[in-house]
Amino acid sequence: MKKLMVAAILLFCGGMALHAQTNHSRCGNSGGEWQDIITERLLRNKQTLADNPVQFRSTVYVPVRFHLVANTAGQGRVEHWRVLEQLCRLNQDFADMDMQFYIKGMNDNINNNAIYSTQYTAGTVMNLLRDPTALNVWIVDLATPVAPTPGETTIVLGYYNPQRDWVVIRRSEVRANSVTLPHEFGHFFDLAHTHNGWDATPWSPSIGNPAPIISPGGVPTERQNGSNCDTAGDYICDTPPDYNGLGYPTCNYNIAQDPTGVFINPDEKLFMSYFDFCPRDEYYFSPTQVDLMWADYNHSSRNYLRSTFVPNLTEITETPVLTYPVGGAIPPGYNAVNFQWTAVAGADFYLLEIDRAASYTINPLRIIVSGTNNHTVTTLEPNRSYFWRIRPYNAYRTCATFTQSGTFQTNNTIVNTTDITDLNEWSIAPNPVYAQGSIQINLQASRGFEGVFTLYNTAGQVARQYGKQRINTGATSFDFNVEALQPGIYMLTLDHEEGREVRRVVVAR
Ligand SMILES: [Zn+2]
Repeated sequence: MKKLMVAAILLFCGGMALHAQTNHSRCGNSGGEWQDIITERLLRNKQTLADNPVQFRSTVYVPVRFHLVANTAGQGRVEHWRVLEQLCRLNQDFADMDMQFYIKGMNDNINNNAIYSTQYTAGTVMNLLRDPTALNVWIVDLATPVAPTPGETTIVLGYYNPQRDWVVIRRSEVRANSVTLPHEFGHFFDLAHTHNGWDATPWSPSIGNPAPIISPGGVPTERQNGSNCDTAGDYICDTPPDYNGLGYPTCNYNIAQDPTGVFINPDEKLFMSYFDFCPRDEYYFSPTQVDLMWADYNHSSRNYLRSTFVPNLTEITETPVLTYPVGGAIPPGYNAVNFQWTAVAGADFYLLEIDRAASYTINPLRIIVSGTNNHTVTTLEPNRSYFWRIRPYNAYRTCATFTQSGTFQTNNTIVNTTDITDLNEWSIAPNPVYAQGSIQINLQASRGFEGVFTLYNTAGQVARQYGKQRINTGATSFDFNVEALQPGIYMLTLDHEEGREVRRVVVAR
């Protein structure tokens, strides 16, 4: 393929100022062999559309496998919440065209230097990890479709590899206000740049006006009057001519003339352009681009993406309430802290974040909790103050935000974390319990054993000792008095020679 680099001075990329000497290419699809493959598909899909105009379509849900890649040391992985925000925005971007995306999976265990920063050397291992039933998106540190040219610095924000059929995006571009991922999805579904032919060598004053009849990339130069739109530029007639293959500092490009001497007026708000300075909400795909993407989606080569599966569509409107540990509570042992929160409708997953700073930037733990509203963490440090928060989501609904942070402290006590294998189940009723009453503990054990029950307050202090009790084979019940306890949250522990079990008890006023 051709050289991707474009040598010029440019400061842009979604508000992030790059070094003025840096060569810059929004995406790695800059002409060459890869573009030839995409163009072939584009022209095929154009013919399909001409033969069978789209009559009807209903919303489809496209599975996406996100690969959150870290370096070999496990560092630098994109934060899960950025992926959730990106998908939320992507579905807004694609809503008008009735194409929606859901998370088939978030692979957050790939630690590989080659994938992280030199994908051009990593095709084999990436192919082994590729999900053949989803659109694969690799989130990496450096997007590197080809080996760099010595002496040149290139920043590629993302690219679509049509030979491997996957998208790669730089982790810093995974954010709601970036237009990189919708742009790359446009390539995935066969679209060329609006400035097709000017990718590697954009129009510049040194090329001069009027522009040549054939662009530097060998594609016929599209004219402003639309007379050759079908066979020039991006081969699409509702996207005006565009020769800007580099980036431009405003949303109003008016410097180049077409081969007849007429100033071209590109549509700077098209996702498939390289204009970055239009209002984010106004970027879009043209109607013909949408039809072509649909034709690509419906082509037999995309069979692997199509199914009748509909993800959970329930919107998440409630905010979970953090219940334990909160308010500076000290759990009984630092080596096994059971985080608890209220479940909310629609949430199939909760992203749990724990860190020593409220900014979650020191050494945050990020854990995906699936199908339940509590999780035990065994890797906290002793004698620390911590913050934690929860973000609910499901495979398709990823727009809900984090809860406020809860706070807690760890002590230096180690508790036994082995589950009591003979205990099949135990429950507490009523819960909450009123302060003047008692709680009934119901247990089912497959073999009799002795255990010690203790009630702790949220500061980790013993509130009640219920002593050693015999738990019989089969069903056993105990009544424990909670009279005169302060209203609040308590942890009832059951210690046994095999380990400890914990249940939460709420004492109400
Ligand atoms: Zn591109």
